Amino acid sequence: SKAQLFEKGTRVNITFNDVAGLDEAKVEVMEIVDFLKNPKKYTALGGKIPKGALLVGPPGTGKTLLAKAMAGEAQVPFFSMSGSDFVELFVGVGASRVRDLFKQAREKSPCIVFIDEIDAIGRARGKNAVMSNDERENTLNQLLVEMDGFSGDSGIIVLAATNRPDVLDTALLRPGRFDRQISIDIPDVKGREKIFDVHLKPIKRSKDLNIRKLAVQTPGFAGADIANICNEAALIAARKGKSEVDMSDFNDAIDRVIGGLEKKNKIIL
Ligand code: ATP
Repeated sequence: SKAQLFEKGTRVNITFNDVAGLDEAKVEVMEIVDFLKNPKKYTALGGKIPKGALLVGPPGTGKTLLAKAMAGEAQVPFFSMSGSDFVELFVGVGASRVRDLFKQAREKSPCIVFIDEIDAIGRARGKNAVMSNDERENTLNQLLVEMDGFSGDSGIIVLAATNRPDVLDTALLRPGRFDRQISIDIPDVKGREKIFDVHLKPIKRSKDLNIRKLAVQTPGFAGADIANICNEAALIAARKGKSEVDMSDFNDAIDRVIGGLEKKNKIIL
């Protein structure tokens, strides 16, 4: 989902328990959480703590959720912005927003700064899509200046999410910037089952509900789609006046979500 422009140092209570599957990614991000919790342990021997990591994967797979869970686990404030919010800004506004964000982050460190859809500002020169080149470059340059301006032990970790790592300006990927990549994939059937488990928790469901079956019926679905299905199913059952959500409601919800995805894809193509 879209990160709000300037989530300003929010305290989050999301933890790794809220993130289903993504076991390998979790191991990697736990390391980063430990950097935030015990920086001295790592700098004691002269090592430098990384400043940034790139979360790479398709839309709706839990990149934002994972970034928030890291803040929740480390018990640090969460700052966020989305690259796409910088589209169509007046000259200079993008850069000044980036400057502002990091100013606040420095004041509240240790903390996490999350940049969703970084490709919107971080595209390699010449591969520009949305923003006027100058303005996009100003915004990107400011981001690079900010990242170079703090040291690894300052307690700020910058996470950025993208589904297009291939278009990113290589300046972003240099050591001391986003030099780690963590890949977040579309869940397999086991992963989908775990995601259903999480999102079924608040749902009053009938005993006939077969989670394995739901997972098998939803190949290619991301976590966001599964969350959507669970919610739709509850609404469909409620509309019919039922007291619990059953398999037929889930089947209707799956059809509806598939229909929605097809429409969306048509628009994109
Ligand atoms: P985008 O690239 O579109 O920003 P994203 O990868 O950041 O997507 P999220 O915003 O984290 O995806 O996911 C949207 C919602 O989908 C989450 O708030 C959560 O409800 C659900 N979701 C996605 N992945 C998972 C997961 N692995 N476990 C549990 N819920 C998930």
